[in-house]
Amino acid sequence: MIVAMQENATDEQIDGVIGAMEEAGVHVHRTTGTIQTILAGVGPTAGLDLAQFEVLPGVEHVHRISSPYKLAGRAWRPEGTVVEFANGVRIGGDQVHVMAGPCSVESRELLEETARRVKAAGGSFLRGGAFKPRSSPYAFQGLGIPGLQLMRQVADAHGLLTISEVMEIAQIEPMLPYVDCFQVGARNMQNFNLLRELGQTRKPVLLKRGMAATLEELLLSSEYILSGGNYNVILCERGIRTYETATRNTMDIAAIPVLKKLSHLPVVGDPSHGTGRRDMVAPMAKAAVAAGADAILVEVHPNADKAASDAAQTLYLEQFEKLMAELKVIAAAVGRTL
Ligand code: PEP
Ligand code: MN
Repeated sequence: MIVAMQENATDEQIDGVIGAMEEAGVHVHRTTGTIQTILAGVGPTAGLDLAQFEVLPGVEHVHRISSPYKLAGRAWRPEGTVVEFANGVRIGGDQVHVMAGPCSVESRELLEETARRVKAAGGSFLRGGAFKPRSSPYAFQGLGIPGLQLMRQVADAHGLLTISEVMEIAQIEPMLPYVDCFQVGARNMQNFNLLRELGQTRKPVLLKRGMAATLEELLLSSEYILSGGNYNVILCERGIRTYETATRNTMDIAAIPVLKKLSHLPVVGDPSHGTGRRDMVAPMAKAAVAAGADAILVEVHPNADKAASDAAQTLYLEQFEKLMAELKVIAAAVGRTL
């Protein structure tokens, strides 16, 4: 259930309503917008008579949430969620941000060069996997924690934030000092135990759409994190499996406006995994920004052809720089900055 408080509701009235909801056995999640406080009640609400809350002082209106996801739905935060990072970076605000770097962290030299060029071109995050989910157990599996230490040092030296994939619960705690944002990969979108545990942290989580997942399933997965009280969730469209073979995945651009409509969570477009081909990355990145993406996640590497993973979809540095200039124009055309 959603309880929208009146604009001028006092703290005492809000606390009174929260108390009444908790007494009815409902778990309350509170959000304070610029206009009003909205309370989402999750739990056994089916048998409740909502009128009992409607008449409490300070309440504007009460309604049931018809969608299966309660906290991810836009009704709870109509103004949209902005996920705040250090360096004043806000994902979900007016500015579109770029997260860029190699698929996998490989060496200090390569990461240094990448970070320098990403920062100079206007990027905000250095991306790079240290724990890699590879289809083959014989493929490069990532450098692990030493890779993350490297990433932290290089990112800090260049004023960038870090984002890296977490694959299992045991990695959460050791990763905390090194990442500004956890990435949950497509293959783990429905690793519900991992999602629940990430809900216990307050570190932002970028949740990628599973390669065969519907948008409702993606939103339900985000609900696992949100329901733990971690509201710093960012959704990511990274392409899905279809019958088309011309691209590695089919980048579902429509997912971006659909998610923005259904949910308050920021949405990121990943045209690298979305297409699997470096010549298709820029067009899809531009399409994603035009469609309303709050950030772009893109793979770039100083020696892209020789990247240890995902080489075919990794941009050359020059391609990335050209793309950044083009994205600025697209962002401006849709009323945003970059
Ligand atoms: C990645 O970002 O390198 C990655 C493995 O992504 P995905 O989970 O979308 O395949
Ligand atoms: Mn990759």
